[in-house]
Amino acid sequence: MMYLLLLEDDLNLGRALHKLLQRQYRVHWLRTLAAARAHMEQGGYDLVLLDLGLPDGDGVDWLRSLRSAGCQIPVLVISARDRLDDRVRGLDTGADDYLVKPFEPDELLARIRVLLRRKAGTAEPRLTAGSLAFAADTHQVYLNGEEISLPPKEHQILAVLMQSVDKPVSRERLNRQLYGLGEGVDSNTLEVHIHGLRKLLGKDRIETIRGYGYRLVPL
Ligand code: CA
Repeated sequence: MMYLLLLEDDLNLGRALHKLLQRQYRVHWLRTLAAARAHMEQGGYDLVLLDLGLPDGDGVDWLRSLRSAGCQIPVLVISARDRLDDRVRGLDTGADDYLVKPFEPDELLARIRVLLRRKAGTAEPRLTAGSLAFAADTHQVYLNGEEISLPPKEHQILAVLMQSVDKPVSRERLNRQLYGLGEGVDSNTLEVHIHGLRKLLGKDRIETIRGYGYRLVPL
């Protein structure tokens, strides 16, 4: 799963973005440049979402130091500064894209996908199961070649099933993906989301393995 660093000091916006992005990506939310500096090196991030006005400095300065150190990670600046010179300055400094607050969630997700795709090069790794395809880097789902969108939980379940096409996947593994470790799991919830997936993809596509879990059938 792609790993995003979200650098945003505004609590409300940070929380909302964290929630939004977590549906598709692993997200590390930090609120200061100091924290970003401390985590960047061993972070293993695939992309940075960078607010410019941070409590301990200007995001542009940090970006400049990243680029001058040879770090090529894609950086998407998200800022309320919408003056043209700010935008130009951000891009000149090495930002890959610039989004002005407030923005639509879909717009943000689309820009992130573009940057991640560009990073992955033209060869987008795809998992397929019959007429179903799943882009491993961007997590887009295609049915008969058309992109479809799934609710977050259904999307997470499918991501796991696509990694083991035609093989049984245990309920435990799927629940772990949905809820992580240590959270209370309502045993019926998984069924509800499987039902949702079947409605969207066709009921024969996901086979129930009694007493164990489910199998994604390549149709
Ligand atoms: Ca800010």
